Amino acid sequence: MSVTVKRGQMFIGGEWVDASNGETELDIDPSTGETLAEVAVGTREDADRAVAAAQKAYEDVWFDTPAKERAAMMLKLADALEGDAENLAQLESRDVGKPISVSRADIPFIADNLRFFAGAARVTEGKSTGEYERGFTSMIRREPLGVTVGICPWNYPLMMAIWKVGPALAAGNTSILKPAELTPLTTLRLAELAADILPPGVLNVVTGRGSVIGDQLVKDPIVRLVSVTGDTATGKIIAAGAAGTVKRVHLELGGKAPVVVFDDADLERVVETLKFAGYTNTGQDCTASTRVIAGPGIYEDVLSSLVPVVESIKVGPLADEEVEVGPLVSAKQRESVSGFVDRARAAGATVLTGGEALPGDGFYYRPSVVTDVGQDAEIVQREVFGPVVTVQRFSDEDEAVRWANDVDYGLASSVWTRDGARALRVARRLQFGAVWINTHFMITAEMPHGGYKQSGYGKDMSMYSLEDYTQIKHVMASLG
Ligand code: NAD
Repeated sequence: MSVTVKRGQMFIGGEWVDASNGETELDIDPSTGETLAEVAVGTREDADRAVAAAQKAYEDVWFDTPAKERAAMMLKLADALEGDAENLAQLESRDVGKPISVSRADIPFIADNLRFFAGAARVTEGKSTGEYERGFTSMIRREPLGVTVGICPWNYPLMMAIWKVGPALAAGNTSILKPAELTPLTTLRLAELAADILPPGVLNVVTGRGSVIGDQLVKDPIVRLVSVTGDTATGKIIAAGAAGTVKRVHLELGGKAPVVVFDDADLERVVETLKFAGYTNTGQDCTASTRVIAGPGIYEDVLSSLVPVVESIKVGPLADEEVEVGPLVSAKQRESVSGFVDRARAAGATVLTGGEALPGDGFYYRPSVVTDVGQDAEIVQREVFGPVVTVQRFSDEDEAVRWANDVDYGLASSVWTRDGARALRVARRLQFGAVWINTHFMITAEMPHGGYKQSGYGKDMSMYSLEDYTQIKHVMASLG
């Protein structure tokens, strides 16, 4: 496969530019450790250049570009993404370590997300204009913010880029994307595709360290919104950094999704869903079904059904179309995952399957099931971000809900039962931004995705996301 992104450069103001100090670093394939591309390591000066370009584009062009024209460009970009689907899928596969079947499946969803925002750009709504004081008319304008920054993680690089650029452009903002250090390639390719479609400076892509170029963007007074998808610890640093200029922060952070399985659940569906939702993307997913909390009557059956299913997951080379799970994104990530499992084991947990790295090249780790863990165990409380699912046994509904809610995170959850009233009762009590009933992992462009608690605030996808990228102005006119 040839890497088609511009080597070692960033996309600022419609041009491909080197880092101001010329520094580059190598980007590697986590399945082999081979070098994939050379990437620019942007500086604080490069962040300033990107902000100036995005501000100029906002003031000179984008501010006066009507929604229908913005939408037309976004639809064209969605077509371009689809036209480049195989190249993008190959790039994402090798950059992140996703099996090719998985990265291919992501592209239509990504294009659909962009199309949703293109449509949404044209149908924003608000309070009706009216007379709230005698002799005065009040009207509400929903306006763009100006320059926005999207800071992305490495687990779904292109999808997260679109979740940030879609609402930003739809709402009339300009955008600077900062992909994760480990996985910049599809975001750079997005810039290449956008270069012929969007006016210069409307979309900029900078690469480099979060703590340098990211930090500079977060603290820049011209930037009016920073949206970050990443670790909760990163979100806290960014929110604190953004406070200095009182800019809007949009945080999609970590997760630790519970899967509450009552005794009357459809066991086969639970296990089939866990096979996918717990392990796809090598478990590096903020909504992954990481914590199974099973009823006393079904707990043993969950374990005895789940273990062989997990052992049947095909782990292997990315280009093999049958492979379901690839490596972790980096050696560091694999060390982190194995550290969690090793510490759990040392504390008395039982590793029913997996629990070890695979021999050979690449950062592979066996899909794992861990049980005999208490609610306060580190592996239950903290985000592992690897192919590891824990299973706990609850005694009654109150305990199930208490355990499900008893983590710092609040992104996604699921409840499994054939009792409709119980499903709705538990869904109401779960403190998560998403609750699935008898399913897990389903997302759609029209519906919001975002956290409660330390999973962050602000929504991705849906009209709620578009609203997050706008601000409200009250215009009041005297009628006399
Ligand atoms: P990370 O927090 O290490 O990095 C995320 C991004 O933040 C990167 O681009 C990084 O360069 C940047 N960054 C780091 N420090 C920064 C700073 N001081 N200033 C500005 N930018 C900075 O996260 P990751 O390891 O790339 O991704 C994994 C995490 O993302 C997991 O915790 C996962 O749960 C979370 N995630 C959340 C969602 C969601 O929708 N809630 C989706 C995907 C991933």
